[in-house]
This record gives sequence, structure tokens and C-alpha cells, in this order.
Amino acid sequence: MQAKLRAALLRPLTIVCLGLVGPCVQAHEPGAHVHGQAVLRVVVDGNALSAELESPLDNILGFEHAPGSAQEQQAVTLAVTALRKPGGILLPTPAAQCTLQKVSLASAALTPAMLGEPGTATPPSADEPGHADLDGEFSWQCAKPEFLHSLRVDLFLAFPRLHKMQVEVAGPKGQSATTLTGTHRTVQW
Ligand SMILES: [Zn+2]
Repeated sequence: MQAKLRAALLRPLTIVCLGLVGPCVQAHEPGAHVHGQAVLRVVVDGNALSAELESPLDNILGFEHAPGSAQEQQAVTLAVTALRKPGGILLPTPAAQCTLQKVSLASAALTPAMLGEPGTATPPSADEPGHADLDGEFSWQCAKPEFLHSLRVDLFLAFPRLHKMQVEVAGPKGQSATTLTGTHRTVQW
């Protein structure tokens, strides 16, 4: 009994929090590892648009460890293909004619090769034992930046385990923050 109690007390904080989602989520800083949630930081600078994604890997794959089975390897391949597809998961205002220039992906649980990255990339360290994030950086060049005022986040469609995204925008009108969901997927500035 005592050993069981001690084990429960030693469990990582986030695990304990999962049973108390309401108050726990409020206590977390943006970017904390909470399954179902993610953070996107968007920067608009002239004709350059960039977005930095920080998500629990569980939202993307349904697991947070190196793929073992063929089924898990297939899940990684499909997810990486979706994340790297231009016009697939993040869609800038069409009239701005933005072209995806670069996608960088990193995860403590996956090798650079699995993510389509050069072998020299260094994986980030895990934020807590048994958990891992997927970090993504996306950048565009826009031919008509004067029309650039929104980003549609179809990550929700590609990855239905994702339910809520905190989006921070630094753009021509200053900084703003909003929360997106599967039914409210577009951030505007
Ligand atoms: Zn996790």
C-alpha cells in the first residue's frame, strides 16, 4: 500500500493533472505538454510568413515513442507526408500568393531520418519521461503580402486527436493571441 502511494506521488505532474483538466490547464504556461492541445507561433514580416508548431507527439501519431510495429512506422510516414505537403495543413490567405519555402520537423522520440531531416539534426530533449513533442517550423514567401491577413489551420482535419490550439501572432498590427478549434480553424490579423 505504501509503495503504491509513493509511486502515485512520484508520477509526473502532467499525468496527475490529466484527471483534473480544467484547473490544471489554466495553471499551465502556453506550450505545456497537454494531450489534445498545441501551440502555434506565427510571425508576419513583410513578405515573409513563418509558423512554429509545438505539439505533443500524441496529437499527431497517437503515441509518443519510436515506432515499433509496421503500423506505427506507417503512421509516422503518413504524418510526415501531411506535415510537409504544401497547402496541406497550414493555408495562408490565398490572395497573398504565399509559397511554402521550408519545413523543419523535430521530435525527441523520432530520428531525423524518420522526419525527413538531414542526419546531422539534433533531436530536442524530452520534456518529461514517457512524453515527447513534435516541433515544426514552416516558412513561406508571399508575392502579394498586402493581402496576407489570415492562416487557416487544417492540422485539425489531418490530426483529429488535436482539439485546441493556442495561436500567437506577431504581425503588422502588433501581437495578438487566439484559440482555434476544429470548428474555428482560421486565425486573422
Ligand atoms: Zn505526452
